[in-house]
Amino acid sequence: MTVGKNFRAILIEYDGSRQSVGLAELSRDRLPEGDVTVRIACSTLNYKDALAITGKSPVVRDFPMIPGIDFAGAVEESSNADFKPGDRVVLNGWGVGERHWGGLAEVARVKGDWLIPLERTFSATQAMSIGTAGYTAALCVMALERQGVSPGSGEVVVTGAAGGVGSVATALLAKLGYEVVAVTGRPEEVDYLMKLGAKRILPRSQFSEPGKPLAKEQWAGAVDVAGGQVLANVCASMKYRGVVAACGLAGGLSFPATVAPFILRGVTLVGIDSVMCPREERREAWRRLARDLDPSLLESMTERVPLEACITVADRLMAGAVRGRVIVPISNEH
Ligand code: NDP
Repeated sequence: MTVGKNFRAILIEYDGSRQSVGLAELSRDRLPEGDVTVRIACSTLNYKDALAITGKSPVVRDFPMIPGIDFAGAVEESSNADFKPGDRVVLNGWGVGERHWGGLAEVARVKGDWLIPLERTFSATQAMSIGTAGYTAALCVMALERQGVSPGSGEVVVTGAAGGVGSVATALLAKLGYEVVAVTGRPEEVDYLMKLGAKRILPRSQFSEPGKPLAKEQWAGAVDVAGGQVLANVCASMKYRGVVAACGLAGGLSFPATVAPFILRGVTLVGIDSVMCPREERREAWRRLARDLDPSLLESMTERVPLEACITVADRLMAGAVRGRVIVPISNEH
């Protein structure tokens, strides 16, 4: 089935002084350049999409813009040799939803090089319940492993644990046999985090005030979505040769740390970027998610919202009030 001549999308516009955002009906003639057209089955609302929709950060580089940094769907038209109509695909990043029209729409036209085949085990809805947040969590886990962290190394701390990246990181690490310590600012999410597999929970307040350059050695590994003071304190409390995978800035862009953990404890700080991550590593991350994530947990970490509700839910997400992931079912072909 082909979506009609027009398609619906969230559209962000800028008139030179003010950003506006709404649900629009657009002609397919306006779709950007690309060799593959995808009928979107399911999209999501990520932290970056909320930044784009609320205009809180200059995520959008070109207006008008359809936000949405990820989507899953089926190829409708393709002049790319790697894809044919009907193929199930997933897209994460590559500037989609920032520079190139994105996934909060019924249809997208993109470069085939940005697409990867959807793992057979996942429906489009499951893939988007994971989304860019979950794929980034997998990249963080892979980075810890690459640096030699294993379940026997000791506890692994996950910050922003009740958010999207944090939820998937907690579930993945627990399934792999790690002892996960989940840090959250929301005590009401303790049961949720225990169900995902956290061994114990710590309040975010323990990490948010300036601390010593070196604190008690606690963690063999860390997945940090917060940045700022939280990341500085996580680094200070790593065990000797511990490894921190830093992927986010939910607590701030700054990094008020000292070099002490790095030069006195041999701590490694690994930066994680999902946007331009090479294709082979992406495929590996999705293979790992298919293998290592308990799919029965996805429902509990997912909230469904219709396309038109993304604009109001973006405010809630920015306020840190969304649990887990927000998915946006688009078609009936999930
Ligand atoms: P969410 O909004 O779903 O989760 C963020 C979580 O961070 C919140 O749920 C909250 O968790 C915690 N948090 C909120 N405010 C603060 C604060 N002031 N200090 C410390 N923690 C806070 O977002 P995502 O999980 O989708 O994304 C998390 C971060 O990772 C974002 O900064 C995002 O931009 C980044 N990211 C980076 C990627 C990359 O490629 N590097 C890819 C994907 C995301 P709790 O209530 O449990 O404390």
